[in-house]
Amino acid sequence: MLEVSDLAVSYGRHQALDGVNLRVEKGEICVILGANGAGKSTLLKAIAGMVRAGRGSVVMNGRNISGMKAHRIVEEGIALVPEGRGIFGELTVAENLQLGSYAARARSHEAAMLSEVYRLFPRLAERKRQVVRTMSGGEQQMVAIGRALMSRPEILMLDEPSLGLSPLLTQELFRALKEVAETGVGILLVEQNARQSLKISDRGYLIENGHVTGESSAEAMMNNPDVINAYLGGV
Ligand code: ATP
Repeated sequence: MLEVSDLAVSYGRHQALDGVNLRVEKGEICVILGANGAGKSTLLKAIAGMVRAGRGSVVMNGRNISGMKAHRIVEEGIALVPEGRGIFGELTVAENLQLGSYAARARSHEAAMLSEVYRLFPRLAERKRQVVRTMSGGEQQMVAIGRALMSRPEILMLDEPSLGLSPLLTQELFRALKEVAETGVGILLVEQNARQSLKISDRGYLIENGHVTGESSAEAMMNNPDVINAYLGGV
């Protein structure tokens, strides 16, 4: 469904990504693991049209979307939950969610998507009218994911969604992502929490210095000694 080929991105003279190949199929969860500065956020931003690629292509459902503006890419069915969430703290849960359905592909489906988001995150349904700034980190992350889902994505990308969350909330969040994938949405996840994210993933990619240096099933990755040493605390 999503296919990235030979993608390269530079910031001035710094080459952040160099020849990245990656794909995400319908209903699949793929996790990207890599050290700080490896280029993971840049990869998600390049797919979302938020940074320009110098080379390579991004193809969604057979359409080349390389070089499209970010709002056009949302219309093609790709949504990004950025690191730091990007939600509006002074607005309520319901208002933040409404903002997610501005895309033409989503407008006439707003009511259905809203009930889907409230089904996935019952806590948001209980707190529709709460101002987001007053919510916990985990709840705010749910709002950010809910807002991205309101655009009716076929591919949902998330940059470090478990950052700052307790292990319990992380588990709850990943369970919800699994449910989202079961509805047919492909998920591309950047995570520091390798252990928990590999558990819910189908496949994994390793990124080092802007290159994909490994790709395998999540299960094989969990048993790969290099991954164990670098990302799973050597156990
Ligand atoms: P982290 O987990 O620390 O966010 P990352 O793998 O997501 O790391 P990126 O944020 O994609 O890495 O950054 C890749 C490289 O590009 C880093 O060396 C970073 O310093 C550099 N970089 C990122 N954004 C910019 C920018 N706007 N201008 C210049 N350099 C940048």
